[in-house]
Amino acid sequence: MERQRRPRIVIIGAGFGGLHAARQFVKEDVDVLLIDRNNFHTFTPLLYQVATCALDSGEIAYPVRGIFRDKANISFLMGEVTTIDTNAQTVRVRVNGTARIETYDKLIVAAGSVTNFFGMDTVQQYSFELKDLRDSVTLRNHILKLFEKAAWAEDPTYRQALSTIVVVGGGPTGIETAGAIRELYAHVLHKEYANTPGMQLEPRVILVEMTDALLRPYPPKLQAAALRQLESLGVDVRLNTALKDAAKDHVILGDDSIIPTYTLIWSAGVKAAPVGELLNVPLQRGARVPVKPTMAVENLDNVYVVGDMAYLEDENGMPYPMIIPIAQQQGILAAKNILRGYAGQEPEHFTYSSRGIMATIGRSRAVAWIYHRIQLTGYLAWAAWLVLHLVELMGFRNRLNVLINWTWNYITYDRSVRLIEENTIDDRADTIEKPEVLPVEAEVA
Ligand SMILES: Cc1cc2nc3c(=O)[nH]c(=O)nc-3n(C[C@H](O)[C@H](O)[C@H](O)COP(=O)(O)OP(=O)(O)OC[C@H]3O[C@@H](n4cnc5c(N)ncnc54)[C@H](O)[C@@H]3O)c2cc1C
Repeated sequence: MERQRRPRIVIIGAGFGGLHAARQFVKEDVDVLLIDRNNFHTFTPLLYQVATCALDSGEIAYPVRGIFRDKANISFLMGEVTTIDTNAQTVRVRVNGTARIETYDKLIVAAGSVTNFFGMDTVQQYSFELKDLRDSVTLRNHILKLFEKAAWAEDPTYRQALSTIVVVGGGPTGIETAGAIRELYAHVLHKEYANTPGMQLEPRVILVEMTDALLRPYPPKLQAAALRQLESLGVDVRLNTALKDAAKDHVILGDDSIIPTYTLIWSAGVKAAPVGELLNVPLQRGARVPVKPTMAVENLDNVYVVGDMAYLEDENGMPYPMIIPIAQQQGILAAKNILRGYAGQEPEHFTYSSRGIMATIGRSRAVAWIYHRIQLTGYLAWAAWLVLHLVELMGFRNRLNVLINWTWNYITYDRSVRLIEENTIDDRADTIEKPEVLPVEAEVA
């Protein structure tokens, strides 16, 4: 008798939503194909630490195949999803330059978000983003290279421009990055570059925020604390200031002031990943895909969207923010609802259970709003941030390495990963195609 085919679930994205969804299917009577363009999962909250020389990229990423090593019903495909056909229930994936078609019974889309430049082409052209590992290594290389240049630049104005960094966006990524770069200057580069004769470097970090406060969703006391802590580090915070334009060697602010700089970091906007457009449904604000409270897409009952890509409103009519716990909880719910459907049960609705929010500003400086009740600042908030991020990081080896690095950095004020590594990607693997006739292996007698 022919064995009945098991349902096939395809998950796009091995980020926080996709991984948590996939885990729900382990040992269930379904086959899962997890697709991601990278062969690793990235712990995004520590990307800025890679960019600012505190951690190595391998310490905040984990290979997807390693996560599901012993899970027989979960397979992984490294490739870029380029088309979704919701009628034929297929996904087209570009793998090493060739196309594969994968069929699904149920699809979970968790492709995350991309930077939103709000149509400002020059800002896109001249700024650095911080969305993935490659961005952080690129930024680290850039900052270190400019310091090498600045150390030998005889013209003080040019030297100043080379060592001025403008960060746009007063959200967690902006303040964490600005604080960490300032500390990198103050604790490490300042001392090491003082050796170049006669070249006094006076690095500046300027944080530009369009509204009148940092960290929008936090209570005013914590917003004020974040501002105070950043300023005490030496970051020049400019509130009520928009970025108007950017060029290779300067930025123009809303009041038409010009800041000579070669480093503009844009962390002022995100929008859903373009994979959402492949579903051919009307999109919501931020290019997010509107979903039902079950996480299924309206009129596409076999398709679920979770995490940064999903547009769902809370009980106050506000869209859920693009943060990790929401992606994780939505991923779990989408998977559970698929399994409930196969078991003939009604789907459940999404309710967000929040443990609070926190952001770090630098050594012993942070703000935390635990369970949206307890407000912490300074050392306590920083300690809470360290513990939480260590616990959430994937892989025991990574946790141990990060703990060692953090302890070392704390005791010595050093930053261990100050390497300028050119981003060389050898794409010979992409050009390999199966030949008509394969050479036959032969040994010399
Ligand atoms: C610098 C930074 C710091 C952050 N800090 C925090 C924080 O401290 N706390 C917090 O709660 N949130 C933080 N976030 C937000 C958090 O990272 C996101 O909310 C979360 O990652 C969303 O999960 P997701 O599953 O929707 O997407 P992601 O985790 O981004 O995963 C998406 C996956 O899809 C893959 N993908 C995308 N397109 C394709 C395609 N076409 N084909 C194949 N694969 C594809 C990507 O490679 C990626 O692996 C931060 C984000 C950034 C960028």
